[in-house]
Amino acid sequence: MKALVLDAPQQIRVGDWPAPRCGPGDVILRPIAAGICAGDMQHYGGRNPYTKYPLVCGHEVCGTITEVGDAVSRFKRGDLVVIEPVVGCGHCYPCRHGKPNCCMNFCLIGLHRPGGYADLCVVPEANIHAVPAGLDPVTASFAEPLTIGIHACRRGEVAAGEYCLILGAGPIGLAILEVAKHRGARVVITDINLERLDFARELGAETLPADDKLLPTVLGQTRNEGADVVIEATGSPKAVESTIDLVAPGARVVIVGLVKKCTGVTLPGLDFTRKEVNLLGSRNSVNCFPEAIALLASGAVKYPRVATRIPMWDSVPTFARLHENPAALHKAVLIME
Ligand SMILES: [Zn+2]
Ligand SMILES: [Zn+2]
Repeated sequence: MKALVLDAPQQIRVGDWPAPRCGPGDVILRPIAAGICAGDMQHYGGRNPYTKYPLVCGHEVCGTITEVGDAVSRFKRGDLVVIEPVVGCGHCYPCRHGKPNCCMNFCLIGLHRPGGYADLCVVPEANIHAVPAGLDPVTASFAEPLTIGIHACRRGEVAAGEYCLILGAGPIGLAILEVAKHRGARVVITDINLERLDFARELGAETLPADDKLLPTVLGQTRNEGADVVIEATGSPKAVESTIDLVAPGARVVIVGLVKKCTGVTLPGLDFTRKEVNLLGSRNSVNCFPEAIALLASGAVKYPRVATRIPMWDSVPTFARLHENPAALHKAVLIME
């Protein structure tokens, strides 16, 4: 079959890849829309130390089922579905405690197993979700990134009326914005990229540039107390470090952004204790797909409008372009025609 084969860092091509076999508990689907996310670009750029080449990426995938295994009961040929990419081992500590998103033998579709940038893709039945009638494939392909926002807001227990400060207005920051707004929070988002802030404002957030005035402004807007929830979605060590100053005493900090490997973050130890900061990591998601799909189907979530559709087999230059400038497109979605 045809696939986008990533042979080595910055070497992607349209080429042959072995067609998948359908195990008893698997389904095979034909991708229709597959988003490119920062994670895919890390594999492309050679910035993820765990990437093994050659590789077929793509984990933000909506497609049609073409084949179901003998033991599959919930789906049939022709169903429109999205992929949940995390496959937990079921045995390790986090899996035993209901957190397969932190599995110690983590398997991700689009990294450890071939993903959706291909004619066909095999997925365990447990890792697919039905797309309701009326939800188009491109919008549905945003379910996976939206789950990241849902999980982050669940971790931070974002509640109505709360001041929720989001650091970073990239695709994940926007997903968090949408979910926090839907929960009724006062959402304030910051970024160094002012264009991204323009779009965040269109989605109903208040925006603040990420500069020296950020902390005094946030304090000024919160009776000098700080934010109820700070959600970090940049991965910049400086931004992570700033969360302890920006959060109110006793309130919550959620770290979603991935700091570069082997890069330390220094937290003010005294403030950390004095403010009794609840510092929470947030990784992928657990049981968030039904909520994500329902939010997308309801039309409450507007940010899939950022999608730029690119035909899958013409997308090689898009990877080079995004590698050169990650902000060149808000969000690229590869389309199978
Ligand atoms: Zn992604
Ligand atoms: Zn596990």
